[in-house]
Amino acid sequence: IKWTEGRGWHDAQLVPYAPLSLDPANMTLHYAQTIFEGLKAYRQPDGSVATFRPEENAKRFQASARRLAMPELPIETFIAAVDALVTQDKAWVPSRDEQSLYLRPFMFATEVGLGVKPANEYLFVVIASPAGAYFPGGIKPVSVWLSEEYVRAAPGGTGAAKAGGNYAASLIAQAQAAEFGCDQVVWLDAIERRWIEEMGGMNLYFVYGRDTNKPLIVTPELSGSLLPGITRASLLQIAADHGYEVAEGRISVDDWQQGNADGSLTEVFACGTAAVITPVGSVKSARANWTVGDGKPGEITQTLRKALLDIQTGAAPDTHGWMHKLS
Ligand code: PMP
Repeated sequence: IKWTEGRGWHDAQLVPYAPLSLDPANMTLHYAQTIFEGLKAYRQPDGSVATFRPEENAKRFQASARRLAMPELPIETFIAAVDALVTQDKAWVPSRDEQSLYLRPFMFATEVGLGVKPANEYLFVVIASPAGAYFPGGIKPVSVWLSEEYVRAAPGGTGAAKAGGNYAASLIAQAQAAEFGCDQVVWLDAIERRWIEEMGGMNLYFVYGRDTNKPLIVTPELSGSLLPGITRASLLQIAADHGYEVAEGRISVDDWQQGNADGSLTEVFACGTAAVITPVGSVKSARANWTVGDGKPGEITQTLRKALLDIQTGAAPDTHGWMHKLS
């Protein structure tokens, strides 16, 4: 779907996957006005297909567009475009457990010119790819590197938007994490370099679960520089459904290390569309390293993971009306 200044959205087309050709002076290549979303379609037990909370992705896409001075795509248009692609590609939605069709809506400037200003032409595109189970051999905890040298996002920046540039800025820290033998980066706040923000492409949850019947589950509050994950928001609800105490708050590196040392912090996990929930097994920084809990996937982590996946795959009732069924 195209957008042109003065004309708005027009020319929606469903076409076979093919390369796009770009002018060398395409503004996106220079000034990075590009935003995206990620969501999944899951096969349901009756053979139908459903996407998970596409309206939330559509809303976040609008928020990202506003921050990047791009036009907002109407929510119905976003959902209709995703629906059209999923309907066309229905046969590609896998039916095995935890497999899905991954959908990638994105938008970028198509105006040609070398002046720094919001473009007057954009293209919105959705592509799809079947996605295998994230943990084909069973859930495996990840090791994380606390990035004290680099920050992903700062107050007033684009951290709360799903903008391409945020990911470009994160690559060097991801490479550093790999150098130190870690799977993922955990980002800290830009000012004090002390408060936990999020992990790579996922949000984080901290479980104070010594009493497994009444655990306290805390996720970093939306600071303005971390991405408001849809999985994060869904888990706030699912944890409450389970009778767990849940809170959004501030967690420092010291809180994490201390909670670990005194045994009050029993589990830490990350959550996002790709892996749904990933346990965090160990932490490393320039100053310290420690194992989280006993280093194995925790009970609460596994309970929440199963509860969310069961809703997504139709194994449990969709009590919150989160599944968007396609006929
Ligand atoms: N943080 C970042 C930086 C991400 O890229 C993602 C993936 N979209 C998330 C968090 C998790 O968001 P969601 O649950 O909506 O996938």
